[in-house]
Amino acid sequence: MLSEQSAATLRATLPAVGAALGTITERFYTGLFAAHPELLRDLFNRGNQASGTQRQALAGSVAAIAEVLGDAVTPEAAAAWDEVYWLMANALIAVEQRLREERGGHTRRTWEVVERVAETADVATFRLRAADGGPVRDFLAGQYVSVRLALADGARQIRQYSLSGAPGPDLRQISVKRVHETGTPDGEVSAHLHARVRVGDVLELSEPYGDLVLDAGPDTPLLLASAGIGVTPMTAMLTHLAGSGHRAPVTVVHADRSPATHALRADHEAWAAKLPGAAVHLWYEQDAPAGTHTGLADLTGVALAPGTRAYLCGPLPFMRAVRTQLIAKGVAPADIHYEVFGPDLWLAGQA
Ligand SMILES: Cc1cc2nc3c(=O)[nH]c(=O)nc-3n(C[C@H](O)[C@H](O)[C@H](O)COP(=O)(O)OP(=O)(O)OC[C@H]3O[C@@H](n4cnc5c(N)ncnc54)[C@H](O)[C@@H]3O)c2cc1C
Repeated sequence: MLSEQSAATLRATLPAVGAALGTITERFYTGLFAAHPELLRDLFNRGNQASGTQRQALAGSVAAIAEVLGDAVTPEAAAAWDEVYWLMANALIAVEQRLREERGGHTRRTWEVVERVAETADVATFRLRAADGGPVRDFLAGQYVSVRLALADGARQIRQYSLSGAPGPDLRQISVKRVHETGTPDGEVSAHLHARVRVGDVLELSEPYGDLVLDAGPDTPLLLASAGIGVTPMTAMLTHLAGSGHRAPVTVVHADRSPATHALRADHEAWAAKLPGAAVHLWYEQDAPAGTHTGLADLTGVALAPGTRAYLCGPLPFMRAVRTQLIAKGVAPADIHYEVFGPDLWLAGQA
């Protein structure tokens, strides 16, 4: 995920930062507790996490690096460390949230599959209604649920799936890609859902969670960039934006193997079309129809309004490429939010 320009700068400045780490840490915590004495009472509590105070406070670590290393920190090096900070914050917060959710004993409910839709050869949407008929909590566009199910051998497994439809009064929907690649075993849960779960069956779902939620007023320009099954949180966000009177420009970017593998394509385009300021840019590696591009996503010619807030979801190489281009276009690292549908190997291949 780290942009290419920052990776080189980080490699060059790492020895100096490493040598001064003791002093940097001391300065950082002194400054942090002076600015937020409440953290001393309840270090990194949930409230701080939810309100964003913890993130802002931790951002001071970058300032501490600049303070200790003085003139050695060029604007380029500061920008690179700033980028690392936001990547780490995103990864650690996501991991902490999932651990808390999995171990915290949050309530789970049973949901009945009321509709199953084949989106593409490998992606199926399951529409679900709470089996107890009780009230259903609203969710924020971009959140996911954890699905827990018993596999054929009796093993209980949990996997996360983004809610791919609009927050609604009683229905929830997830869209699941069947994981089957040559040379590796089929994905356990996705294969089970595809092969065995039909209308009338029930699934156990957690309440909705997740940090990749839209945090933007109607006048904030947005970029929603996805690839492959990363489209799922984006369709939920688009339905929400269309229903909430979003006015500012929304740039929709999606990349896929072909139009036939582009899950939720009709929803993706239809909801974008309902927004007054939306521009849709599609890339397909094969069979690109007129008006779309052939090949991998490339944002070179895509104009972004100043102050654009970006939401990314897709395979790591896609997100790394898009993130690099966004930073080169002047989008602040703090304004780039992303979800990884697996381990967040944000420095993978760059060491
Ligand atoms: C927040 C979040 C949201 C998500 N939203 C969605 C969504 O909307 N839609 C969606 O489809 N997915 C989503 N995912 C991904 C989803 O949670 C699962 O990770 C995905 O369905 C694969 O799970 P699985 O049980 O099918 O595969 P697993 O059984 O967990 O396998 C995962 C991978 O490991 C490989 N593997 C397993 N065992 C071995 C082995 N012995 N040797 C080598 N390789 C092996 C498999 O081949 C496969 O590629 C999301 C994930 C997260 C974290």
